[in-house]
Amino acid sequence: MSDQTGQDTIHYDRYYGSLAAMRARFDRRARRDAFSGGTAEEFEIWRERSRATLTSLLGLDRMERCGGDAVVDGEVYLPAEEGGLALRREHCILQTEPGIYMPFYLFIPEYGENTPDPAGDTPQIFLALPGHQGAGKESVAGRGEFPAVAAAIDRFQYDYGLRLARMGFVTACPDCRGFGERRDEAAQGDEREKFLSCSCFHLSHMAEGLGQTVCGMLVWDAMRLIDHLTERGSREGWRTGCIGCVGFSGGGMQTLWTSALDDRVTYTLISGYLYGYRDSLLTLNGNCSCNYIPHLWEHFDMGDIASLIAPGTLLVQSCREDHLNGPRGLDNVTEQMVTVRAAYRLFGAEDALFHDVCPGGHCFHPEILDRIPRIVHNGRDVKRCS
Ligand SMILES: [Zn+2]
Repeated sequence: MSDQTGQDTIHYDRYYGSLAAMRARFDRRARRDAFSGGTAEEFEIWRERSRATLTSLLGLDRMERCGGDAVVDGEVYLPAEEGGLALRREHCILQTEPGIYMPFYLFIPEYGENTPDPAGDTPQIFLALPGHQGAGKESVAGRGEFPAVAAAIDRFQYDYGLRLARMGFVTACPDCRGFGERRDEAAQGDEREKFLSCSCFHLSHMAEGLGQTVCGMLVWDAMRLIDHLTERGSREGWRTGCIGCVGFSGGGMQTLWTSALDDRVTYTLISGYLYGYRDSLLTLNGNCSCNYIPHLWEHFDMGDIASLIAPGTLLVQSCREDHLNGPRGLDNVTEQMVTVRAAYRLFGAEDALFHDVCPGGHCFHPEILDRIPRIVHNGRDVKRCS
């Protein structure tokens, strides 16, 4: 019903929102546990303490272990194509906690004479983790025969899992919780909008009261997938001493955290997800719930977390016009990279850190995959990386 002015709602000339005060609070209280030493030895002490803090903040210490191997419940043969190896694509299901199941695709390249194989310390096994709006593993695994998936691949160049596999890497493309086959009730359905969506928001509400975080769940599941891949790899003759991890956007978030907390990951590619929290997640406060971890900003900024990856190989890809960089654009990225680079310098490992700045908006740029070293495979001589 309208009031006597003829307006349906009340117009306010001024709003009393909280953003400015929250920014000021961030400035007073954030990043209390940033590294303040000056040597690699001091960094190692900080790393151990920081990982313990992050493990607790993520709720990883409240996750529940379970036994059992992954089940393979289907496989498809993909013939070789121009510039890419033939592949076996398995559909597998891994239990990561009691009653929690993670479906994933596993691509196994068909090696032969004169086909590319990972070189030296480059992992043979990669995790390719999904971001939002791509139906989880389906776009990462390049299931472009479905138009909705093809549209997501076209929009974000999401098919990095399939690309890695065609290059010769054993590549796992999981659904993370809330995505693809793991959507909770509110996001289930075949309509394109639901199919490409996720249930992070609902998962987050379920998690908070239980002392859990969505990010922690995703990292836990990625770690359990690494457990499985290293165990299976030892049976299959794959090199298991080092693991690669790649992800764009929300997949970049998972990659950042998994690599920062798990030393088995020695080769990391984070695309579209490395920036300062104040601009990108406080000022831009409408991002997906999976980004928000209680108390995190009091302790660390994102560059601090990424520096935990040092001195492992780290490729960071940022787009100049990516709106998720926040209102100050690339400055909000390069400030974090200064923190990361300082950590690599302590180890004399600046060569292991590469920042790829691309034009345009929020999108993966697959050319960066060409930086991953490969050699010609001889069919038998399987090297071990340390
Ligand atoms: Zn999310």
